[in-house]
Amino acid sequence: MTAQTDVIVVGAGLAGLVATYELTRAGRSVLVLEQENADNLGGQAHWSLGGIFLVNSPEQRRLGVRDSAELALRDWMGSAAFGDSASDRWPRRWAEAYVSFAAGEKREYLRGLGMRFMPFVGWAERGDGTAGGHGNSVPRFHFGWGTGPEIVRVFAERVRRAEREGLVRFEYRRRVDELLVDRGAVHGVRGSVLEPSAEPRGVASSRRVVGEFEHHAQAVVVASGGIGGDQELVRRNWPRRLGRAPEHMLTGVPAHVDGRMLEIGERAGASVINRDRMWHYTEGVGNWDPVWPDHGIRILPGPSSLWLDACGNRLPPPYFPGFDTMGTLRHLLATGHDHSWFLLDRSILEKEFALSGSEQNPDLTDKSPRKLLSRVRGGAPGPVEAFRRRGVDFLVRDTLRDLVTAMNELTGRRLLDYQRVRDEVLARDAGVGGMAGKDMQLTAIRAARGFVSDRLIRVTPPHRLLDPRHGPLVAVRLRVLTRKTLGGMETNLDSQVLRPDGGVVDGLYAAGEVAGFGGGGVHGHNALEGTFLGGCVFSGRNAGRALARDLG
Ligand SMILES: Cc1cc2nc3c(=O)[nH]c(=O)nc-3n(C[C@H](O)[C@H](O)[C@H](O)COP(=O)(O)OP(=O)(O)OC[C@H]3O[C@@H](n4cnc5c(N)ncnc54)[C@H](O)[C@@H]3O)c2cc1C
Repeated sequence: MTAQTDVIVVGAGLAGLVATYELTRAGRSVLVLEQENADNLGGQAHWSLGGIFLVNSPEQRRLGVRDSAELALRDWMGSAAFGDSASDRWPRRWAEAYVSFAAGEKREYLRGLGMRFMPFVGWAERGDGTAGGHGNSVPRFHFGWGTGPEIVRVFAERVRRAEREGLVRFEYRRRVDELLVDRGAVHGVRGSVLEPSAEPRGVASSRRVVGEFEHHAQAVVVASGGIGGDQELVRRNWPRRLGRAPEHMLTGVPAHVDGRMLEIGERAGASVINRDRMWHYTEGVGNWDPVWPDHGIRILPGPSSLWLDACGNRLPPPYFPGFDTMGTLRHLLATGHDHSWFLLDRSILEKEFALSGSEQNPDLTDKSPRKLLSRVRGGAPGPVEAFRRRGVDFLVRDTLRDLVTAMNELTGRRLLDYQRVRDEVLARDAGVGGMAGKDMQLTAIRAARGFVSDRLIRVTPPHRLLDPRHGPLVAVRLRVLTRKTLGGMETNLDSQVLRPDGGVVDGLYAAGEVAGFGGGGVHGHNALEGTFLGGCVFSGRNAGRALARDLG
């Protein structure tokens, strides 16, 4: 089959699967090379919460949310903060095309494949408090029913069908080390056969090489993911505008997210741009049941927790939970410490804490209406309760004094002064009740409760943290969690990889995170969330369709 293969796809994550699906739909033959074993099909997308950015959807409209392509594009551009440099030329064009996809065909494309969406919509990245700046003016985070495994399934099933028909061949434990170039055109790949691995999905596998391979095709699509699994690479590319890189981080993606293909692409002539744009979270907690090295989980917080820096100072507006990820990261790094704290109570924990990841949301992942109902009934969701009991970063105490003592014990340093923390809590609690209040966070909480989804399942009524009826008190130590790579291989709207001089690298395409989700940085400097899976779909689809159209 090798000699006749039309296209080689490097990476069996979501972007690779989408490109393969589109190619096989057009009758093209595809060889998929994947460095992990078959259990890892779908890559990171399997682990994802399945949050999808949609604009002006029926789900939004039913909840009274008024959205439009114009508003979404304004939000996107305000968040991206693109400049005039050449490295923002294609990202800007991708941004316009992607928002138009999210406001148009995206939902029906996914529904046509069998995906369904939950009737409630989340409000992620509520923004930096400015009209023209970063953030979602309205809720746009749609939950795929079945989370990450479902979005993988709808493509994987079709690709497997094509495999049975002889159009697709998967080769696992094949790590591409080189793109083969002849007179400027990519015509194949060379790489290492890795020893067989029986590790379960997500577990770091052996890199022992037991052989070599070489394959040729008319074109190669690189869909190899970002750099977030390699903390050293993240530090080396750390954006200076955010300050120093954290010394201690958690890792939010499996080890296969190793970024190797970026250099390999460069050696073949690819332009790799915006390397210092990335999307890491400030609300990481150590996984008590780790799958990959340094495995951290992101808390998806509602807006009510009191956010304190490592020394017990409350974060200033607009750095409230769930508002402005990059701004908060920059602020926290300037404190000189790698960790911060959420201070909350039982009521907030039960209603407002959710955890990112398919395995942390079994009700949605298993498509179980019965389990889902427990979210409305109250009490902490099972996975949150497990972290409360077993997570190393979670502390529960009856009194604030005991809590602060435990917080200092956890870090092994007396950074927190009880009186200072108490003053912050009392000042905050004084603003609760009545109409008055200059506390922007309380104003934001009240505003969030005006949105029906938030009121029902996401945001507690404002109350005093020291009110014993809402106790006991809870503190959660938060650390920086690596996740997404926003820069990457520069591509045009057909996902063709460009050279530094702007010309096309013939035969080379890139999709998904390795292409900065399109163009080498469709998100610019920030993200509106739920945009990454869709970015894989859009860029993988563009690659597959362009190739299906253009191949001889
Ligand atoms: C816990 C979690 C939650 C998330 N939640 C969301 C969410 O709710 N919404 C959202 O939009 N996004 C979310 N994301 C992000 C999203 O899942 C990823 O950005 C996306 O799935 C990346 O897909 P990809 O195909 O580009 O890369 P990957 O999924 O990383 O796949 C790349 C594949 O290529 C293989 N590969 C790499 N190099 C080579 C090589 N040299 N040779 C052969 N094979 C190679 C890798 O082994 C891997 O299987 C989440 C991610 C995680 C981890």
